Amino acid sequence: MRRMTARPANTHQARLLRLLRDGGPNSRAQLGDQVDLSRSKLAVEVDRLLETGLVVADGLAASRGGRRSHNIRLAPGLRFLGVDIGATSIDVAVTNAELEILGHITHPMDVREGPVAVFEQVLAMAAKLRASGFADGFDGAGIGVPGPVRFPEGVPVAPPIMPGWDGYPVREVLSQELGCPVMVDNDVNLMALGEQHAGVARSAGDFLCVKIGTGIGCGIVVGGEVYRGTTGSAGDIGHIQVEPEGRPCACGNRGCLEAHFSGAALARDAEDAARDGRSPVLAERLHTQGALSAADVAAAAAAGDTAALDLIRSGGDHTGQVIASLVSFFNPGLVVIGGGVTGLGHTLLAAIRTQVYRQSLPLATGNLPIVLGELGPASGVIGGARLISDHLFSPA
Ligand SMILES: [Zn+2]
Repeated sequence: MRRMTARPANTHQARLLRLLRDGGPNSRAQLGDQVDLSRSKLAVEVDRLLETGLVVADGLAASRGGRRSHNIRLAPGLRFLGVDIGATSIDVAVTNAELEILGHITHPMDVREGPVAVFEQVLAMAAKLRASGFADGFDGAGIGVPGPVRFPEGVPVAPPIMPGWDGYPVREVLSQELGCPVMVDNDVNLMALGEQHAGVARSAGDFLCVKIGTGIGCGIVVGGEVYRGTTGSAGDIGHIQVEPEGRPCACGNRGCLEAHFSGAALARDAEDAARDGRSPVLAERLHTQGALSAADVAAAAAAGDTAALDLIRSGGDHTGQVIASLVSFFNPGLVVIGGGVTGLGHTLLAAIRTQVYRQSLPLATGNLPIVLGELGPASGVIGGARLISDHLFSPA
C-alpha cells in the first residue's frame, strides 16, 4: 500500500488526527464538539483530510437527528514502528494508527556492542514483523535509547552505559534504512509516553515516571508534554547523590542513586549476599545459574528470604529519598515506577511510599498516588509509536 505522504496542513487537522488516534473512529458531530469548530469549518477540514487519505469514512454514525453521517477513522493501513533499546535487550513492535500493538518481539542484546550491531538487530526484527504480515512498510518509527539524547537531531550524547554511541546519528541512519521518518528519545521518556497513552497515566497531565532498570532515569511530563530540558538531560536522576561517602559510580562521583540501587547494583548486592552466607536462597540460585539479576532477588523475596527483602527495602529507601525531593520541587499529580525492577513489586513500592510521605510536605503528597506502571515492556514501544505519531500528526 501507499505509505503516508501527507501531513496535516494546520493545527485543526493535527488536532483531529490526534483525537482519532487517541479515541478511535468517531462521528463528525462528536469531533466537532471536541475541537470547537463551526460545522462548516469542520466539514472543510475533514474533507481535506479525506482527500489526503490520512482518514477514511467508516460505517454510519449513530443518528443525532437529521441525516445520518459516516464515522471517520484514521487510514487502516497506517503502521508505526516502536523500538525500545534497553541496556540488555531490544523490543520492537508494530502498531496501527491508533497505536494498538499488532506484533511485538523481544531479543536479548548488550547495548555496549555498539550502534552498528544493535541496528542490524533492530532492522532484522523489523523485517521479521513485516514478513509476519503485520505491515508491508512503516509510516514512521520512534526509537528509545538508554541514555541522554539531543532531541531535535536524534543523537545520543555521552551516554554513560553506551560506549561507542556518543554522537552517532541514530535518526539519520535509521530513517535511511527504514525509508520513513524517525524520532529518537531517551528510553525513560518513551516509557512515560507509553504509560500516558495506554497505561496508568492516561488521565494525568503532570506526572513523573521513574524507570529503574540497569540505570535509573525519570520522565517528566508537564501539561501533557514531555519536558526534556535545554540539552535533553532532564530527569537524569540516577546521579543524584544519596550517600555522601557512598559507593563509587561509573560517572566518576560517589554515592549516586544508581550506584546504590539499579538493576546492576542489585545484581552485585545479591551476589554478595549469596557469597557471604546471608542468603541461602540466593546462594542456591547463584550456584545453578552462575550470575544473579533483579529477577532472582524478586524470586528470593517472594520466598520470604530476609536478605533479599532487605536489599529491596534499602533500594526503595534510597529511591524514595530522591523522589521525595522531586515531589517537593515539581508537585506532580502522579508518580509511576517502572522498568526491570517492577518485579520487586509491593515491597519496593511500600519502601518508596514511606520515604516520600515522610519527607515531602502534606500539601504535595495529600493526593499523590505512587503506583507501578501498567504496561511492562510494552510501554517503551507504545511510547515510540506515540512519539513518531505526535511528530507526523503535527502541521508540516
Ligand atoms: Zn553517578
